[in-house]
Amino acid sequence: MIAEAFRGYVHGFEDLNKEKMFKKSRTHNRNVAKSDWRTIIGLMGYKSRVRLLNPHNSSRRCSSGMVNAPKGALYECKGCGLKIDRQLNACLNLYLQVEGLSPSLKLFVGLMKRWGGLP
Ligand SMILES: [Zn+2]
Repeated sequence: MIAEAFRGYVHGFEDLNKEKMFKKSRTHNRNVAKSDWRTIIGLMGYKSRVRLLNPHNSSRRCSSGMVNAPKGALYECKGCGLKIDRQLNACLNLYLQVEGLSPSLKLFVGLMKRWGGLP
């Protein structure tokens, strides 16, 4: 349904290696094992364009450029002081990758202006 609703869009997915993700709690490992991302990506690719993205530092890089070591749900950048939901920050980084852009403070400010700020 999502592929149909957003036909013509490019959908980016992190090209994750499941084997490297089995390092945490038993519950986490089970959730990773149950997730069938390849099938989801395949189904999305059937009706729309899919791009696999490099997941390296997607959740550590500030969407304005600097790489930090965030902890918790809130991402706080030591370089520029950005405070943003950690998942949203990772999404912004992946979006920049889909568009073939490098993170920068100027680009981040421009995107935030165009999108009307963060929800
Ligand atoms: Zn920053």
